[in-house]
Amino acid sequence: MNHPDHYAVFGNPIKHSKSPRIHSLFAAQTGQDINYQAQEVPAENFEAAVSAFFAQGGKGLNCTVPLKELAWAYANQKTERAQLAKAVNTLALQADGTVLGDNTDGCGLVTDLTTNHGISLNGTNILILGAGGASRGIIAPILAQQPARIVIANRTVDKALQLACEFQQLGAVSGCGFDALAGQQFGLILNATSASLSDQLPPLPDGLLATHGTCYDLAYGNTPTAFVRWGIAHGAAKSLDGLGMLVEQAAEAFFIWRGVRPATAPVIALLDGERNPQ
Ligand code: NDP
Repeated sequence: MNHPDHYAVFGNPIKHSKSPRIHSLFAAQTGQDINYQAQEVPAENFEAAVSAFFAQGGKGLNCTVPLKELAWAYANQKTERAQLAKAVNTLALQADGTVLGDNTDGCGLVTDLTTNHGISLNGTNILILGAGGASRGIIAPILAQQPARIVIANRTVDKALQLACEFQQLGAVSGCGFDALAGQQFGLILNATSASLSDQLPPLPDGLLATHGTCYDLAYGNTPTAFVRWGIAHGAAKSLDGLGMLVEQAAEAFFIWRGVRPATAPVIALLDGERNPQ
C-alpha cells in the first residue's frame, strides 16, 4: 500500500495558518496523495526541526514568520528569485537528497493582481509600505512586470533605503520614510507592513492614491483590514486583501513539489465565502 507524501508549514505562531486547508483542497482537486500539517517551530529550533522532518521522509516545507531568512540559509540551492529575496518560503527535497529553496510570495502576489483581478503593473507608479521579509519577496517579481517605478516607504527609513539599494540594478526603485510621501501619487499601493495585524495603519497623506487606483493589503482577515478600509475611504477602484496571494503562493509551492498546478479560483472562492457568510 502507498503512503501519502508528507509536507508541512513551520512558523511561530502557526495555529491559525490556512495552509493545511489550502493544500488539502489542492490535493483533493488534483488527486495527489499528500499529508500537510502545521507545526509550531521557534527560530532557535529551526535547523534541528527541518533536518528531522526530512530525515523522517518529509518531502517539502513551507516556512513562514519568523523563519524565512533561516530557511534561506538552510537551503543547499536557491532559485534566482529566492537568491534575490534573501528569504525562502518553500523548501523541496531533491532526488539527490539536497534541499532546494524558493520564494513563491512575489509570484503569488503578481498572479493575484494581474490574473485574478486584471490589474496591470506595467507602467504603474507603485508604492510599497514596509521593508520587512514580505517586501523582500515581492520587489523583484513586481519589477519584472516593468512598473514605472517602485517607492518603498518604511517606519525605519534605513531599511527602506537598504532594500532599494539591493534591488536597484533590476529597475527604478527608491526608498524613503512615510513623511516623504506628501505630494506624491501612486496607481497601486501595497501594504506590506504588519500594522494591519493590530488594526493599525502607517501614517498616510491624503491624495496618495491616484484616481481609479488600487490598494492591496498583503495581510488578510475575516473582516476588512485597516488598510483595505483606508483604500475604500480614499476612493480606490479596488481595495483588496492578501487572501488571493496566500492561495497563489501555495499553488506555486504545490507545483514545485508535485509538478501539478491546482486551480486556485475555486479555493479562493471557498475561503472567501467562509469568511463572508451570506
Ligand atoms: P516583518 O516583520 O518582516 O516586517 C514588518 C514590517 O511592518 C516592517 O517594515 C515594519 O517596520 C512594519 N511595521 C510593523 N508595524 C508597523 C506600524 N504600526 N506602522 C508602520 N509600520 C509597521 O513582516 P513580513 O514582511 O513578513 O509581513 C508583513 C505582512 O505581510 C504581514 O501582515 C503578513 O501577514 C503579510 N504577508 C502575507 C502573505 C500572503 O500570502 N498574503 C505572505 C507574506 C506576508 P519597521 O521596519 O520600522 O519595524
